[in-house]
Amino acid sequence: MTRMTSLLERNEQFARTYSPVALAPPTAEVLVVTCLDHRVDPAIILGLELGEAPVIRNAGGRVTEAVIDDVAFLAFLAEQLFGDQGATDTLFEVAVVHHTQCGTSLLVDPTFRHQAAEATGQSEAALEASAVSDPHATVKADVERLLTSPLLSPKVSVSGHVYDIATGRVTTTLDARYPQWSR
Ligand SMILES: [Zn+2]
Repeated sequence: MTRMTSLLERNEQFARTYSPVALAPPTAEVLVVTCLDHRVDPAIILGLELGEAPVIRNAGGRVTEAVIDDVAFLAFLAEQLFGDQGATDTLFEVAVVHHTQCGTSLLVDPTFRHQAAEATGQSEAALEASAVSDPHATVKADVERLLTSPLLSPKVSVSGHVYDIATGRVTTTLDARYPQWSR
């Protein structure tokens, strides 16, 4: 037995009417970076279908080195595989989506943060920097972080948004921009 049993039954239902999606550029031309919170599933809150948008999720939906590396790789991949199809001066938009009531906001409390550092082996400073207590502020910081990374392709734009757990609404904090040095 596994706790996956009932989910595998749902998968069986899914597979019955499934048709495979070929490897092609994501049709929404968006890559979503958001929190791993189970109340913040982009497929559901943004109505994404298979083949529409790659999604990167971590605690808080933060733009970490690992996220920057993934974005750089996906831009390379898109250029290699699909560079000869359609417009070649743009690849996709990275939409960074932070949210209200984020669990990482607990890390603002020094006692909680100290305990978390001991339990996970991460530094208190790293944990403090990862906290999303004001999603409008952190999403701005993360959009800037990605836009100023030398690893970001000049063909990739970045936008910032906040998902409100209470209302289900996503609002845009920063419209999509390309890295300044590239234009
Ligand atoms: Zn969160």
